[in-house]
Amino acid sequence: MSGVATLSRKADFPGLVTRDGAPWHYLDSAATAQKPQAVIDAMTSALGEDYATVHRGVYGRSANMTLGYEAARRKVAALIGGAEDEVVFTRGATEAINLVAYSYPEKGRVLLSELEHHSNIVPWQLAGWQVDVCPLTDDGRIDLDAAERMLTREHTMVSFAHVSNVLGSVLDARRAAELAHAVGAKLLLDGCQAVPRLPVDVAALDCDFYAFSAHKLYGPTGIGALWGRADLLDAMPPWQGGGAMIDQVGFQRTTYAPAPQRFEAGTPAITEAIAFGAACDYVANAGIESIHAHEARLVKQTREALGAMNDVTLYGPEDSAGIVSFLIDGIHPHDLGTILDEENVAIRAGHHCAQPLMEKLGIPATARASFGIYSDEDDVAALIRGIERTKRIFG
Ligand code: PMP
Repeated sequence: MSGVATLSRKADFPGLVTRDGAPWHYLDSAATAQKPQAVIDAMTSALGEDYATVHRGVYGRSANMTLGYEAARRKVAALIGGAEDEVVFTRGATEAINLVAYSYPEKGRVLLSELEHHSNIVPWQLAGWQVDVCPLTDDGRIDLDAAERMLTREHTMVSFAHVSNVLGSVLDARRAAELAHAVGAKLLLDGCQAVPRLPVDVAALDCDFYAFSAHKLYGPTGIGALWGRADLLDAMPPWQGGGAMIDQVGFQRTTYAPAPQRFEAGTPAITEAIAFGAACDYVANAGIESIHAHEARLVKQTREALGAMNDVTLYGPEDSAGIVSFLIDGIHPHDLGTILDEENVAIRAGHHCAQPLMEKLGIPATARASFGIYSDEDDVAALIRGIERTKRIFG
């Protein structure tokens, strides 16, 4: 295959070879991305020679750790065009969405869409919101014309995936913000799949909350971020209590620290935050526009190769971001995934934590290939070879 300029980043990622030293064709970056050595190094030194707690700066190492932790917050903010005091470190996107679902003071009706990940469905249910569901267009985008018809003054929140983790479809987030604001609702964007793949500027998008996880952005697990507009975060009560989120504590009355500390109860994920910052540096250095263009070329190449097979159904729009979901007639995605694994090709098979979307599509599962900064044409070629072999096995 030809025509895909690679970013040539494979060498930065020790996870991309097998224990035997063979290339590992990792096509599951939408689930979690491999880590560059720079992130591993940042985490190792934060756990090793630099390790101490934060926010207790009477000794030098702790003061340095605090500086590193807060510098990471600035890097996360800069990556998405927000201010640092608008970035709350959370355990990941899931916790970020839970935080808003539980803590947003005007709980009412929330408009979700048919393509949402379970983590953008279940928190709203658990926190007692009334859930409405916006349908999709035939090519797998959130149907914003339908959203416009559905939204009422009773809706206080719209919460949509910026990029679908199954279909790769990209939301017209600005229009979604306009529609939400026209009825007085806020817009939360689930940016899990968008931040690693698209330039994101929360100010230009005019959204109100933005949630994402570090581990899909080449950072570690156990940390993510909620960006929220300062006036909204300020008006939200804390949702977990403990150390570090307080101003004054008494048995009868406690006052709270301002945002974002108010939402970070307990000793935070210090080393993870520092490595999250290193991941932001890595992505900023590579250039998110280049990553986006690189993944777009790989998506095009993969969709063309799969589209040329008359027994393959492709899901999602042509211009999907970094993600290709498909089904092969007569071959269950799990069988495909198992045979591809023998060829050192890793794809995801299943419902991708989007059971309502599978139901809507009338299928139990898809096979999903998803790309990252390190993916290249060899990975696509290995996938296509593996699919051809699987078809031979299934006769
Ligand atoms: N939303 C989307 C679109 C996702 O792809 C994911 C992860 N698969 C999540 C939310 C949840 O992210 P996490 O499990 O890291 O909290």
